[in-house]
Amino acid sequence: MGGGRACPARAPRRSAVTNHHRQGPKPSRFGALSAFTAPGRSGEIGQSLKTCRLCGRDKPASDFLAGKAKRPSSACAQCRGARAAQHRRRYFASLSPDERHTRTQRKRAADYGVAHVPYSRTEVLARWSHSCCYCGGWATHLDHVIPLSRGGADVESNMVPACERCNLSKGAKSLAEWAATFGPEPPPF
Ligand SMILES: [Zn+2]
Ligand SMILES: [Zn+2]
Repeated sequence: MGGGRACPARAPRRSAVTNHHRQGPKPSRFGALSAFTAPGRSGEIGQSLKTCRLCGRDKPASDFLAGKAKRPSSACAQCRGARAAQHRRRYFASLSPDERHTRTQRKRAADYGVAHVPYSRTEVLARWSHSCCYCGGWATHLDHVIPLSRGGADVESNMVPACERCNLSKGAKSLAEWAATFGPEPPPF
């Protein structure tokens, strides 16, 4: 008799839960906030949502690290990507100028499929007393005499110091092509 009474008592509770899902979440005491979150929640039927602690947006649980999906304080994939990129930028900025130069040029050399042999940017500039080998100005760049895009390698024997203007003006031209742009006159600046 006790079991027979328990069933009718439980049935209304189950149907109440079902009706709640069919009709959407009941109005929240947070008012306007529920108007913002309700469409997202009802639109993702069967997909649980989590709130990113960094951007504050509701996103599918699959956007969060699986092992930490139940933690309310985790960050979505987009925010994790942005945070990792910021860490990489800060780490790169913390390196010495020589190391930054080496890493940048090593990647460029790999992109162009040419050889890369590490050298010290500081030593090359010091050897030339920071003098631009084209105009004699203050050199802050190293120029690949044979550009990487023309098969020149990122090796010390292909590097000369150049001022910013000469280096940017020469660009990916060979020395002869660049010289032809200003003829027998010195570089026009
Ligand atoms: Zn986020
Ligand atoms: Zn120069």
